[in-house]
Amino acid sequence: MWTTFLARALAIGISLPLAMGIGGATTPRPVVIQQSLYAALQKAETFAEQGEFRQAVAYADFVLNPRVLRVRLDLSGVVTSQRADAEAAVVKAAKAWEDSLGNEVEIRFVTGGVSAVRIGFRSDLKVWGADAAGHLVWSRNVVQIGDDYSAQVSADMTLRTLSPGGRCLTLDNMTHAALHEFGHVFGLNDSHWVGDIMGPQDLNRPITKISERELTPLREVRREAQSIVHLAEWVESSATLFAPR
Ligand SMILES: [Zn+2]
Repeated sequence: MWTTFLARALAIGISLPLAMGIGGATTPRPVVIQQSLYAALQKAETFAEQGEFRQAVAYADFVLNPRVLRVRLDLSGVVTSQRADAEAAVVKAAKAWEDSLGNEVEIRFVTGGVSAVRIGFRSDLKVWGADAAGHLVWSRNVVQIGDDYSAQVSADMTLRTLSPGGRCLTLDNMTHAALHEFGHVFGLNDSHWVGDIMGPQDLNRPITKISERELTPLREVRREAQSIVHLAEWVESSATLFAPR
């Protein structure tokens, strides 16, 4: 096959109930960001220093995610009476993430073709044996095709529709869960703070707004990645301007 997976860049994750510690970085980094984003950023910087801008941009894109994130919504696991809320929750979460990222990413719902994210529903859901409001399995990697490099992301999201006691989860319950799982797609880790989008959900007090505490570090790491993309574009245009005569 003409596709080569760069094993070093491969990052696979599943959502965990608690924040996991990160180590190995020389600079202290906030735990809310997935370590693989910093690792990709470091590779992007190294490639840029070496003048390998295609690789540098691919690793920066690993951090930035696709500009258009194609999402396929599968409502078959939801009872008819709850479908409107289930769909509204996902649409609301997608819009909140687009707004929070300054519309740098478009979350586009598609019914056919290739999609990076699949979202399904289940009446009950357990992660590591514990009741969970949502679950995400994702992978992010840099792929080489010939001389070209690109970042790819794929994720499978499951959202829960019934409480452990069997009552229908509300629009806000499902919105919190969808916001949380999209947070993993964009590179956030679990938090142990009840009150954070990335924290455990209190079903009586779901959170429907992403906190600045969570957004600021994500915006910072994205700015760093964007500066590498801009540098690559600048060098490319300069190389043309100052081509040897
Ligand atoms: Zn999680």
